[in-house]
Amino acid sequence: MKIGFIGLGAMGKPMALNLLQAGHAVTVCDINRDAVAGLVASGAAAADNPGELAAVAEIIIMMLPNGAIVEATVQGAAGILSKARPGLYIVDMSSVAPECTKKMAALARAQGVHYMDAPVSGGVTGAASGTLTIMAGGEAAVVEACRPVLEILGKKIYYAGQAGAGDAVKVVNNFLLAANMAAAAEGFVLGVKLGLDPAILFDIVSASSGNSYALTAKMTKFVFPGNFVPGFAVDLQHKDIELALAAAREAAVELRLAPVVQEFYQAAQTAGWGREDIAAIIKPLEEQARVKVRVKNE
Ligand code: NAD
Repeated sequence: MKIGFIGLGAMGKPMALNLLQAGHAVTVCDINRDAVAGLVASGAAAADNPGELAAVAEIIIMMLPNGAIVEATVQGAAGILSKARPGLYIVDMSSVAPECTKKMAALARAQGVHYMDAPVSGGVTGAASGTLTIMAGGEAAVVEACRPVLEILGKKIYYAGQAGAGDAVKVVNNFLLAANMAAAAEGFVLGVKLGLDPAILFDIVSASSGNSYALTAKMTKFVFPGNFVPGFAVDLQHKDIELALAAAREAAVELRLAPVVQEFYQAAQTAGWGREDIAAIIKPLEEQARVKVRVKNE
């Protein structure tokens, strides 16, 4: 299948590489010229804009920062739909609002173009190893048609429902990740302030009921060595909590925890750590408590 790929960042670059490695012809597009050059060096072709990509691709995957950029990429002047032929498949794997997908799917449908949402979980490691969890939304037949390509990128592919359903699952999932990360950060700052060795605290809690993905994925890799290179950036997580808050407002659901959780990510942004991994939300807590949750390398 001729694949187009838009958005070659922390996630998109390894995903596009996996598609190339699986033997597909891949044409890429990104506003970052270096990112495009990197993929071209690995065997990809390059398109100047999403419209040019639509002229050559049978399926286009987007892995972009947010919904506004996805909408511009789909319906902008040189966007995908400006040159899309009927029968093209568009797969948005970015984390966006369900409403964004519903809107784009309707525009695409009017042109005979198939559109599905397929946001992911598993981070940069899962993107590199092709083991992402994929949350698919859209017409079941469209999801099935795209499944062989999705199977190169992910290990578990779940069908959530119609267009936007995958996004809705992702919104809930990432709110839970954000809350668990905040709880792990606060808990470990408290533990260290109480005189505990963070390595011992980790060993015990990760084998107990306080364990979480945030704990196991973020403490040893980011917090203990004090290395906050993302990973999953604070800015993106902040956006995802905003998506949860917006979805809740629209559905008239009162979220009490989410605004409090958002304060952790806002504090990290204010301190200048928006581009660091979400584990960096621990730093303002450490400063306040005057401790550091670090473990020396053996
Ligand atoms: P990133 O910022 O590293 O990459 C985004 C890429 O999109 C960059 O290469 C950027 O140049 C490109 N881009 C921006 N605007 C563009 C435009 N108008 N046209 C073409 N390219 C454009 O982000 P990421 O970490 O790769 O995340 C991408 C998406 O995946 C986000 O929606 C994020 O929420 C989601 N996500 C990220 C992770 C993670 O661990 N990083 C995990 C799951 C989901």
